[in-house]
Amino acid sequence: MKQTPTSILTNSNLRKTPIRLQVLQLLLREETALSSQQLESNLHKPDRITLYRTLRTFEQKGIVHQVVDGTNNPKYALCLNACNEHQHLDQHAHFHCVQCGKTICLTEVSQPSIHTPAGFVVQSSHLALQGFCPDCIFKGKKKKSTL
Ligand SMILES: [Zn+2]
Ligand SMILES: [Zn+2]
Ligand SMILES: [Zn+2]
Repeated sequence: MKQTPTSILTNSNLRKTPIRLQVLQLLLREETALSSQQLESNLHKPDRITLYRTLRTFEQKGIVHQVVDGTNNPKYALCLNACNEHQHLDQHAHFHCVQCGKTICLTEVSQPSIHTPAGFVVQSSHLALQGFCPDCIFKGKKKKSTL
């Protein structure tokens, strides 16, 4: 079933406030991870505190996950259907394109399991990849061929 902002909020028993609907619409449309600044600049009536609370609620409900992409700008992306308010299952790599600045969930690339020395308890780990996305490589090739 295709997800819509309304269906996501209904499934999580959340009230359909304008800001929640807008944030989900942006994340569904862009299909990339977005920083709170990127979200804020696309909102009709930006309100930083409400946006911050919205993202926190979404994270608690298993709707979005925080994305660490190796830049110093944390981002948010939509979760897989399997996430819920009890756990996040987004143990996948994130790819940051150094050319266009997009950050993409590589859901098919799972993080390798990491064995830490005795006495260390891992709470979170992030696999952040950086390089060029297919779009930018394609554009680069096209540019060369027209020269
Ligand atoms: Zn999740
Ligand atoms: Zn790119
Ligand atoms: Zn992700």
